Amino acid sequence: MNATIEMVKIPEAHSRSTTPPPDPNPWNADRVGCHVASTAPGAKLKNLEWTDLGVRGSRLMGDESTIAQVHPKELCDAMWSYSEQHGSNFVKGTVENLCYEDGDSERHIRGVVVDGQKMASDVVILSMGPWGEVLQQAVPACSMLGVKYHSVLMRSGRVLNEAVFFSGLGDPEVYPRNDGNHYVTGFPDPPQVVKEIPGEVEVREEMCSRLIKTMQQVSSEMAEAEVTTKQSCYLPFTRDSVPCMGKVPKHENVFVATGHGCWGILLSLASGKAMSELILDGEATSVSLEPFDPKRFG
Ligand SMILES: Cc1cc2nc3c(=O)[nH]c(=O)nc-3n(C[C@H](O)[C@H](O)[C@H](O)COP(=O)(O)OP(=O)(O)OC[C@H]3O[C@@H](n4cnc5c(N)ncnc54)[C@H](O)[C@@H]3O)c2cc1C
Repeated sequence: MNATIEMVKIPEAHSRSTTPPPDPNPWNADRVGCHVASTAPGAKLKNLEWTDLGVRGSRLMGDESTIAQVHPKELCDAMWSYSEQHGSNFVKGTVENLCYEDGDSERHIRGVVVDGQKMASDVVILSMGPWGEVLQQAVPACSMLGVKYHSVLMRSGRVLNEAVFFSGLGDPEVYPRNDGNHYVTGFPDPPQVVKEIPGEVEVREEMCSRLIKTMQQVSSEMAEAEVTTKQSCYLPFTRDSVPCMGKVPKHENVFVATGHGCWGILLSLASGKAMSELILDGEATSVSLEPFDPKRFG
């Protein structure tokens, strides 16, 4: 398997920083308006910015004063840059196994096997999205599911102010970015146990064409836009669709944080903070992790 792991070693001296990043908007969040638009042949609606074809009506979900968006990679890069400056270390590799010692009734993990090599670890946090094999070594009943979504980046060059969630035509979603690209996604596959290798997830041309065709039906600007990227990825789900976060049952030093479904970007910062409190202080105080406790899987 050719997966990547984001393994972060946190030096003791920097295990908890109380200094916030200096930039007040370090994640480069953009303010956007947001509409739900229902599709059907119709005239251009006055209150919509770029959906000038095939839209029957719309409802405002929020505007620049209530809605912001982050670019997932920029968020990760900003978070990582801050962590690295504070002494964290990144190792890339595929985790194959958790290392248990013979006769260890406490299930105290000594380390993990990464690309065939044992790597000693004080604490292990399992955050492997929909890829559940290693998690199931520790929590057999917690099998993960993935919901595959395709997406395309369409470039008109103009920075749009409105994200639009369509109702009809397969309910595609459009997120404008601040570089003139527009992220278009929709048409999920059914939930499945993910067998595809991370980073090598198949992109089906027909799904991308469907997304592009839908955009051509709702916007003359999109009809002219260049398609710069076609891709697919999985939403990670537990069997009860509730995130699984906390200490792994019957284990002393293994934790899990996964299953955030379609909200993993939004919830990432709060989840990370709560998990760090749990691991470093023994209790999450910023948010209760009770509803997400992995003990529900036994
Ligand atoms: C089309 C689409 C649109 C989305 N839109 C939004 C949105 O608007 N807002 C929002 O909040 N969320 C959104 N999400 C959801 C969000 O992207 C996910 O919830 C989030 O990425 C989950 O993060 P994760 O780290 O738990 O899992 P992942 O992002 O899946 O990361 C898991 C990582 O583990 C690695 N891995 C797996 N197995 C191993 C192994 N054995 N060894 C080493 N590494 C391994 C993988 O390579 C991967 O890097 C969207 C998702 C999709 C697909």
